[in-house]
Amino acid sequence: MIDLQEFSWLTAAWDQVSARWKSLSHGILITGNPGIGKGHLALELTRLLLCKEPNEDKACGQCASCQLLENSVHPDFHVLVPENEIDSQPEPIREHANRYFMSEKAASSSRKPSRVIGVDAVRLLSESLVMKSGQTGRKVSLITPADRLNSNSMNALLKLLEEPTADTYIILVTARPYRLAATIRSRCIQLECPAPVPQMVRSWLDRRYPETTIDVLPFARCGIGPLQINAILVGGEQALFQDLFKKLCMPTLTGTNPWLLAQECSAIGIQTALRILQYRALAQIRELATGVESSPGCNNESAFSCRESSIQTFLEIGQFLLGPTGAVDEQLFLEDICTRICEERES
Ligand SMILES: [Zn+2]
Repeated sequence: MIDLQEFSWLTAAWDQVSARWKSLSHGILITGNPGIGKGHLALELTRLLLCKEPNEDKACGQCASCQLLENSVHPDFHVLVPENEIDSQPEPIREHANRYFMSEKAASSSRKPSRVIGVDAVRLLSESLVMKSGQTGRKVSLITPADRLNSNSMNALLKLLEEPTADTYIILVTARPYRLAATIRSRCIQLECPAPVPQMVRSWLDRRYPETTIDVLPFARCGIGPLQINAILVGGEQALFQDLFKKLCMPTLTGTNPWLLAQECSAIGIQTALRILQYRALAQIRELATGVESSPGCNNESAFSCRESSIQTFLEIGQFLLGPTGAVDEQLFLEDICTRICEERES
């Protein structure tokens, strides 16, 4: 079990939600930057809601319900995750989610893992929630990242939120709440988890990697949270990311070949690179509109020079990341975006 106390930046959000856990509405939307531990917070809330003998605002960790959850076999915990995100989830979430696409996987093991949470998964969830609880009487459904619901699955989810089964909690977790229909957002209480300031991230990483000095600012500027930095360090990919950050923060890309930039992006994974570019575009749009920095304590040195181009890039990448595409399409799309950035920075 990961102790939520390890993530000091989530303490305020946890105190806020755990203080009133007995009177929470059935729709709970947890938002905040990527990679800051929102999934762990959702899991801790699930423990508390399903525990048979909670101690004030903490799950006991001992009862049958807590044990079932820890062993990833709780009958009243239902998790929907897109297939391509399954490996990045904390273990109990991963194992519980597997139940919902075992049959699909068996049907076609050669197809690409889906990026979306389809309507069939939400229908199956709906059928499961109708059944009687196997433990405490309460049932918890976790959907993460909830922005991967497509329009059909959002409609199906809306019905669940409008006519909830008794003692059911639906926890939606996302870094992109603007992608959810307003009708869904309006039926949930929202818990916003603030991003850690760079100093907090630095201390957290220093405790884990006392031998390594990591410049966390470029990661923060690209919307990469502490848990993602941790995964990058574990994977030995630090240098690849730092090379790319240097390029994206240069005042000019004069003479830079867009295909070389695309190659550097590909090296960290095309989807990861596209999310970084999308985050940079959104940060630029926000800062131009409000004058407020998206990442606390980070100056935004932009990869984009004008508002129109930032908006266009942000929307196009968002659309692309939702669509089912092949590897060749991904590469071409990435090259298109890199071409735009290089041309703009030269003008
Ligand atoms: Zn318990």
